[in-house]
Amino acid sequence: MAPPETGTDKTAHVRRQLLAWYEANKRDLPWRRSRDSYAIWVSEIMLQQTRVAVVIERYQAFLSRFPTIAALAAAPEQDVLALWSGLGYYRRARMLHKAAQFVVNHREGKLPATAAELRLLPGIGTYTAAAIASIAHDERVAVVDGNVERVLCRLQGWEAAGTSGAALRRKVEDAANELVDPEGPGDFNQAMMELGAMVCLPRNPQCLVCPVASGCVTQGEHKTQPRPRMLSREIGCALVLRSAPGRGNGHREVLLEQRPDSNTVMPGLWQLPALRDAAVPEAELQMTVRHAIMQVNYYVRVRLVVESDLDTLTVRDGRRCWISLRRAGDMALTGLTRKVLSRSRLLPAQPEAIALQATADVP
Ligand code: SF4
Repeated sequence: MAPPETGTDKTAHVRRQLLAWYEANKRDLPWRRSRDSYAIWVSEIMLQQTRVAVVIERYQAFLSRFPTIAALAAAPEQDVLALWSGLGYYRRARMLHKAAQFVVNHREGKLPATAAELRLLPGIGTYTAAAIASIAHDERVAVVDGNVERVLCRLQGWEAAGTSGAALRRKVEDAANELVDPEGPGDFNQAMMELGAMVCLPRNPQCLVCPVASGCVTQGEHKTQPRPRMLSREIGCALVLRSAPGRGNGHREVLLEQRPDSNTVMPGLWQLPALRDAAVPEAELQMTVRHAIMQVNYYVRVRLVVESDLDTLTVRDGRRCWISLRRAGDMALTGLTRKVLSRSRLLPAQPEAIALQATADVP
């Protein structure tokens, strides 16, 4: 008869099974081809709160424009925001930029190698520090994101409902640090995240094909805290177009407004002007776009407004400019504005270069 499995045997078994599965099944994602700590840092910041498919599109363009920490540190903030456009949560881009400047000015342009030192940089928290240190430098430190937390709770049979968030978090972090493979912590961390993203899904986990099912207490969904309900709001925005003065046929401009730097949300970004009244008559409705921010679904009614009818717009909150449609895609647009312009087929699919081209301020 085989001896009963000890905790150490079980841990080793889970590691082996997980790493073998990851080696055979991992997605070929661009940031997985690099061990460069700067490239890993950029990808980890982008992946927070943004879907992988969107990050794939933006990651390569960002690294082509800013291939090194020095290049990022030297760039104007508007260029960094423009490359971030579509990823949302622009504070991440600002913090990344600031941290790059800090590294250039105070650390001779070199990112620290340990999680403890990385955490001292602006915008780098426990999760990002652990990801960079383990993937780029093989430090034995666990990465715990939402996916990993879910996998560990299910493996251990822990329920989130009724437990304080902080207490559960501590338990999960301790378990993760015990489980992380000392031989290949970077691969192990990525394998845990991949399992959570591809197999141990929030709804309908794929337990029948799960490589660690034999070590899992829950084998299915666990009780979680009830999710906050999404709210709905209706707003209106204006698409104002004109032919560019003196530039010939087919050269059009769009009216955009820059959010003031004093705004706490998306300061400095460019957006379509808001309408005074979201109740757009059907005959003048260009489209309705759903745009989710945090817990709110915005249903945005887009109205085509002629240049002579600007009193339908709200009093402007910031600088307003006519922007060439050939250049608009290169600017730091809000996600909603990029969405509306793309769906109206006024933007090319991918911005290519960075240039802030305000042809003229609107008085
Ligand atoms: Fe998740 Fe099911 Fe695997 Fe357990 S067996 S880790 S619940 S997918």
